[in-house]
Amino acid sequence: KLHNTILELKGNIRVFCRVRPFLPDDSCSIEGRVISYPTSTEVLGRGIDIMQNGQKHAFTFDRVFMPDAPQEDVFVEISQLVQSALDGYKVCIFAYGQTGSGKTYTMMGKPGQKGLIPRSLEQIFQTRQSLQPQGWKYEMQVSMLEIYNETIRDLLNRDVTRTENGAAGKQYAIKHDANGNTHVSDLTIVDVCSAKEVSYLLDRAAHSRSVGKTQMNEQSSRSHFVFTLRISGVNESTEQQVQGVLNLIDLAGSERLSKSGSTGDRLKETQAINRSLSSLSDVIFSLAKKEDHVPFRNSKLTYLLQPCLGGDSKTLMFVNISPEPSSVGESLCSLRFASRVN
Ligand code: ADP
Ligand code: MG
Repeated sequence: KLHNTILELKGNIRVFCRVRPFLPDDSCSIEGRVISYPTSTEVLGRGIDIMQNGQKHAFTFDRVFMPDAPQEDVFVEISQLVQSALDGYKVCIFAYGQTGSGKTYTMMGKPGQKGLIPRSLEQIFQTRQSLQPQGWKYEMQVSMLEIYNETIRDLLNRDVTRTENGAAGKQYAIKHDANGNTHVSDLTIVDVCSAKEVSYLLDRAAHSRSVGKTQMNEQSSRSHFVFTLRISGVNESTEQQVQGVLNLIDLAGSERLSKSGSTGDRLKETQAINRSLSSLSDVIFSLAKKEDHVPFRNSKLTYLLQPCLGGDSKTLMFVNISPEPSSVGESLCSLRFASRVN
């Protein structure tokens, strides 16, 4: 493939842990500290310890980001991976963690603290320009969808925001062709030429999500957000061709809602989230173990991403955790989830 991918992928799956800083609203003091970070002498920290009831639990990941790690430092570590989508790889980057742990901050960021979605797009469009003199022409297409209660919602279709269950008659059936391309029927796909255009579409998707939220009484933290950039490149002098995909996924909050407390729609929602997160874990686990049978079909999310999870595709999972002592239980669950797939 085109560029040298320096990134040494262990298998093709890597796990990064990111601890968000204390926020003004957090119920905590320095004395309440439960998480210890890599020591400052370790340039690339990989270990993280967490205390629960006086007991220390130690975890190791491919990389651990301390709470003060700025967005650009995080991006530096993934830019090679993003770049490989231009070389024709299929890439998935997930953010996993309880609500409030920093998933959306990591993926989207805030004004002035851009996350990895806008940074990835800027880099991709810059590289595309720099490869032009060598004869490379790229076409890019974007789609954005949400999976809520095992149902797909198109975030770039204006109609969807006006109806309860998505536009009537739309099936959003997922099909994979022999070339490993995924087709979702009725899904809006937009040709894009610049990072600015994509950023406009991201705003539109965010608007669709917030409208859906009030209509369906749902919170965006209860659904998976899937951003997909399809890249197809051809070199006009060498006639080389490449097809890459970059999927950036902000997962639904992983928190376990108490089963006794949730009934009806809330219970159904919780079950759908638990099911899709655990099937994601099952899929990544069996891929890491190189098992023959990978249970892709157990959830919409894993089935949708099937061609981008197996083979020579590359997967990165961010496990986001909150530093709050009251979140220790959830943080431990997230760390265990992530170390299972690591
Ligand atoms: P989630 O998407 O997992 O529910 P958010 O990304 O919305 O969580 O983060 C919760 C809050 O914490 C937000 O106000 C966000 O801006 C802030 N936050 C999260 N991570 C960081 C970070 N690394 N640095 C600064 N603020 C952060
Ligand atoms: Mg979020």
